[in-house]
Amino acid sequence: MRYLSTRGDSSNSSVSAVPAASPSKTFTEILLAGLAPDGGLYLPETYPQVSRLELDAWRGLSYADLAYAVLSKFIDDIPPADLKALVDKTYTAKVYCNGRTGGNAADITPLRWLEPGLGILELSNGPTLAFKDMAMQLLGNLFEYVLDKKSEQINILGATSGDTGSAAEYAMRGKHGVRVFMLSPDGRMSAFQRAQMYSLQDENIYNIAVRGMFDDAQDIVKAVSNDHAFKAKYKIGAVNSINWARVVAQIVYYFKGYFAATKSNDEQVAFAVPSGNFGNICAGHIARMMGLPIGKLVMATNENDVLDEFFRTGVYRPRGTAETHATSSPSMDISKASNFERFVFDLVGRDPVVVRDLWAKVDAGGSFDLSGTAYFSALSKFGFVSGSSTHADRLATIRSTYEKYGVMVDTHTADGLKVALELRCVEMPMIVLETALPIKFEETIVEALGRSPERPAGFEGIEQLPQRVAVMDVDVDAVKQFVRDHVDV
Ligand SMILES: *Cc1c(COP(=O)(O)O)cnc(C)c1O
Repeated sequence: MRYLSTRGDSSNSSVSAVPAASPSKTFTEILLAGLAPDGGLYLPETYPQVSRLELDAWRGLSYADLAYAVLSKFIDDIPPADLKALVDKTYTAKVYCNGRTGGNAADITPLRWLEPGLGILELSNGPTLAFKDMAMQLLGNLFEYVLDKKSEQINILGATSGDTGSAAEYAMRGKHGVRVFMLSPDGRMSAFQRAQMYSLQDENIYNIAVRGMFDDAQDIVKAVSNDHAFKAKYKIGAVNSINWARVVAQIVYYFKGYFAATKSNDEQVAFAVPSGNFGNICAGHIARMMGLPIGKLVMATNENDVLDEFFRTGVYRPRGTAETHATSSPSMDISKASNFERFVFDLVGRDPVVVRDLWAKVDAGGSFDLSGTAYFSALSKFGFVSGSSTHADRLATIRSTYEKYGVMVDTHTADGLKVALELRCVEMPMIVLETALPIKFEETIVEALGRSPERPAGFEGIEQLPQRVAVMDVDVDAVKQFVRDHVDV
């Protein structure tokens, strides 16, 4: 299995409509990389297909065995026994034990029916109580394995407004060869989120709170990464949402959820996905391209509805920071969906020249319009439908779900559920992907229900634990100096 860039090979400007003559790479070659050198995103040269026989055989597998079966189709440069060991170490009931379903912890991602034909796939039972643990925990083990083999090190530099940073830290804590420097906006995350990150005492985890907003933190990360000499000397890397290994790890739970929701592989299922950077639903798209019988992919946004606008109108118009709303489902407050390029690559028939032209506009701060093109007419062929949600919708959904089913959902899952209910049809069950537990967004739950969500065991009083965080001004040089002080080169 080789990987290519969605923009083909930009050094070969004579390529016409011939797909990607780019220098293709193996899985471990792109594991530690971010963007491809031409600015594109990595994707497999072709999507591996899953036969009916395989689907039938996979139906009864445990999560870890299923993950191994799926990942083996994408990873052929890690010896099978090693890959199996990495997957077995990652997807254990011990790591994903925060489930409220108790006895089903071994399922890793239990399916909870609200009523016949409407279910929630629990993806938030990992250490940080959000679905990002599903992929990030595997990434931690893959990084450690590959770095050990190469006797190399990586210093991950990132910015977070909450979920990504904590998922990365819990995945990388104690891993050899890896340090994490995570920037967060001082005082802007919930007390619970701050406690989750800052109470880690592992030597290889460094929290830096900057006196500014998330965007200021993000700009520092960009500035440091653009200093190529510094980046090379201090082996600066990232684990952001475009990382291919994160996408591929997320494909697994679409298979798991499908099997849990159906009795035979003749049935179809719809998945509703609360979306921000389009990473989660991109994995669903790929599962479908591999042959999983997904009838519909329901893309749900909050008030930041850039993607909903595209699926309704064909216009992709990323917003500026000033036009991005701060909402009560903050992990979806995204104005430019970084993984969307992967889907558009498939939509335009995998023609890197078309993708390059479209993203030349996006990268220059503009937009593009596919309405009236054959590409836009082909959208339905990919099973996508979409909708959006507001703060009032979230409150109403959290309330009605609690009253009707006795189930508390977090604000992001509520966005997915709201759109799912609108687009549900009788032909197939609708499975909503749960992306976080309500305790992470306690304030809004209290606003909706007048009571606090339950705390999973082990999280009592985490706000009182000693915290380890360096507070700094918005200053690129101060962050660089902090890295220098903590990395031997
Ligand atoms: C990251 C995140 C999302 C958005 O996922 P994408 O892969 O960026 O689309 C939704 N909900 C929660 C709770 C998240 O942490």
